[in-house]
Amino acid sequence: TTPFFDAVVIGAGAAGLFCAAQAGQRGLRVLLIDHATRVAEKIRISGGGRCNFTNQELDATAPQRHFVGANPQFARSALSRYTPQDFIALLRRHAIPFHEKHKGQLFCDRSAEDLIAMLLAECAAGSVQRWQPCAVKNVAFSAASPDGTSAGSYHIDTDRGPVTARSLVIATGGLSIPKIGATDFGYRLAQQFGLPLVERRPGLVPLTFDGTAWAPYAQLSGLALPVAISTGLGKKGRSTFHEDLLFTHRGLSGPAVLQISSYWQPGTPIAIDLAPGTDLQDALRQGKARQSRRLLANELAQWLPARLADAWCAQDTQWQRPLAEAADRALSRLGEQLAHWQVTPTGTEGYRKAEVTLGGVDTRALSQHTLECKAQPGLYFIGEVVDVTGWLGGYNFQWAWASAHACAQALAAR
Ligand code: FAD
Repeated sequence: TTPFFDAVVIGAGAAGLFCAAQAGQRGLRVLLIDHATRVAEKIRISGGGRCNFTNQELDATAPQRHFVGANPQFARSALSRYTPQDFIALLRRHAIPFHEKHKGQLFCDRSAEDLIAMLLAECAAGSVQRWQPCAVKNVAFSAASPDGTSAGSYHIDTDRGPVTARSLVIATGGLSIPKIGATDFGYRLAQQFGLPLVERRPGLVPLTFDGTAWAPYAQLSGLALPVAISTGLGKKGRSTFHEDLLFTHRGLSGPAVLQISSYWQPGTPIAIDLAPGTDLQDALRQGKARQSRRLLANELAQWLPARLADAWCAQDTQWQRPLAEAADRALSRLGEQLAHWQVTPTGTEGYRKAEVTLGGVDTRALSQHTLECKAQPGLYFIGEVVDVTGWLGGYNFQWAWASAHACAQALAAR
């Protein structure tokens, strides 16, 4: 006979492992399926191998501060019922050492493997069965369930045979890094059940520029500096980040650019202040008043990396003279450009390099309290497959834990 489970969870990543463990520990018979050989490959590679697993600055009452999507408020219920403090308490129970790095970001001291071992131990504590590697071939819903309830059941055809479940949880994540197992399974399943999708695109991703337009900056590859970066949109809807910028061969990267990429709309410019906190126009005027004989590039090197100052001044002969001899207009143009560098990316490095996928299952189709589909009883979507995307800095994992937790509570209550 076909094995029966209270819940089948597809996707053994951050959200799927945590949901399966929580549901199992609430007494449910849970099967966790993943097509990859190893669980949680993204946890393994995240945060440079140390996994930035949450962020202490998360404000669950104002999710729009740290989350992007058509309706960031959707995340509020789950995020406020399972907070960074709750996840920290779990790490403490497992005696996993961690530290804060930057702006509330928490990382494992040793390795992301600590976290994966913790999640597997939590699954074992909930007697979760795991099938891996195991491909799901087909999913069907039938309104008449074999156990006599009217709730209906899900029939999941896998390459290890069929299974039946009262509830089905989709935790297959986003499209980024296909080479470690990302697929569009969750989106296709959503479509199969008639759920709307918000258009997907890469987020937290380096931005690329046109070859010729980028030529003056290509030599800066490898250079990093702190900047203020914002979308070139008007005041309304503008987001600004104060983070490091990294020049690459093909364009711009670093935390500043990854953050802004989630807000960037193709075809629009981004604005970068290359010397935040310094009024360069004023500083250059003062230098000229002092009759400084230093070359402009050397003067600028007080506030900017020398390589950047050199490359910038090389773009205009008016900027290749001693400060005392530079025209006022040339100085204000220089100060203005460095404070408001407007560049229009031609694209992104794509899912190969993106940390997340923007868009996904439209939150209007889901209950914010349970993550269950409003029109399809017993079907749940959690984690990154949903149109909730966090900032860089641990917010995406916290959404995975919190949405998994809310779902597990609901599974147990069904
Ligand atoms: P995932 O963790 O991606 O899990 C999805 C699972 O589903 C995978 O195990 C996959 O094998 C499985 N799956 C996919 N398709 C199928 C299928 N057809 N059948 C069966 N199984 C399937 N976020 C942070 O908060 N902090 C960080 O430090 C951080 N660093 C990152 C670094 C990198 C390089 C990347 C790519 C992402 C990083 N992220 C980080 C984002 C974070 O990893 C994701 O947001 C998070 O893993 C999403 O959890 P999830 O469970 O929804 O999906």
